[in-house]
Amino acid sequence: FQINMTQLQLDEELGKGNYGTVKKVLHRPTNVFMAMKEIPLELSPSKLDGIIMELDILHRAVAPEIVEFYGAFTIESCVYYCMEYMDAGSLDKVLGIKTIQQGGGWVGELGEGAPEDVLGRIASNMVRGLKFLKDKLQIMHRDVKPTNVLVNRKGQIKLCDFGVSGQLDNSIAKTNIGCQTYFAPERIQGTTAGADAEEAFNTYTVSSDVWSLGLSMIEIALGKYPYPPETYNNVFAQLQAIVHGEPPQLPESKPQSDVDPLEVHFSENARDWVRICLIKDPVKRATYADLLDHPFLVEDSQREVNMTAWVAGALGRRELQARLRQDLLDPEIANEP
Ligand code: ATP
Ligand code: MG
Repeated sequence: FQINMTQLQLDEELGKGNYGTVKKVLHRPTNVFMAMKEIPLELSPSKLDGIIMELDILHRAVAPEIVEFYGAFTIESCVYYCMEYMDAGSLDKVLGIKTIQQGGGWVGELGEGAPEDVLGRIASNMVRGLKFLKDKLQIMHRDVKPTNVLVNRKGQIKLCDFGVSGQLDNSIAKTNIGCQTYFAPERIQGTTAGADAEEAFNTYTVSSDVWSLGLSMIEIALGKYPYPPETYNNVFAQLQAIVHGEPPQLPESKPQSDVDPLEVHFSENARDWVRICLIKDPVKRATYADLLDHPFLVEDSQREVNMTAWVAGALGRRELQARLRQDLLDPEIANEP
């Protein structure tokens, strides 16, 4: 069936990205909640139709690790894209990771980290999802990062926002590579050499997604982006560190903090798994098969992980945090009727 705007009842806003806004909507004919992404584009009607046609292959992207696609339509010069509503939101929100703009710069706010068994389950879902996209749809993701990993209260972990439409990708002004990039060193070098060089050298392939996966894992484990904006306080310094510095590592343990009273240890297997994702030479970097066969994910497949309990716990802590913050910001609110 075809989805259109008249069937949708708008609910709350779920978030804003660099290119659009995501809203919760109710699809009245089926009584299903969906997440609708609105992407404003200055394009001719025929170009918009081209994008809708390209998005159609998303109907084939059906896997347990991929957010379900329901349909897309255009109104005036906006593309609207309807997908499965994930009721716990993206991983960064579940973990309470935030990047705040302060003055001219960015300050990372510490979130909580995921314990190793949860990390293993997230890793396994992400690799399976990425491998599915590659093997079954012959596409790479291109935008692997915690905001594009969605979670629901059933404890499921799914990927969204992968690059299926070349025309859509080209039309979105990718102006801000800034703030926090998950781009692999070879992808940054391709970009700085000029947009066309990226295609020409063809060094930017599926293994670039593996780098982004490794970087995301450290962020999920520590509750903090691995190139902290406090240290790399401008985009240039950050890109320089990614291209020329040693790759970041998963440490042996994560100390306790205000938001995260637990000290967490990471096993040698977990640390090695992250290490092989973050090998700077894309040719030597791990493949999806390497990552699935690695003891870290073999262990994961052999143990029970109570993801539902973890999601419920983390969401409870976020709610508490939000309430505390609200009280601190405006103490009067608590007294109002
Ligand atoms: P970028 O624009 O760089 O991709 P982003 O991924 O944060 O950043 P969006 O994809 O526009 O931006 O999403 C905005 C926010 O909306 C996300 O961070 C996420 O919290 C929320 N969101 C997106 N899709 C869904 C969904 N299917 N279910 C629930 N929440 C969602
Ligand atoms: Mg996104």
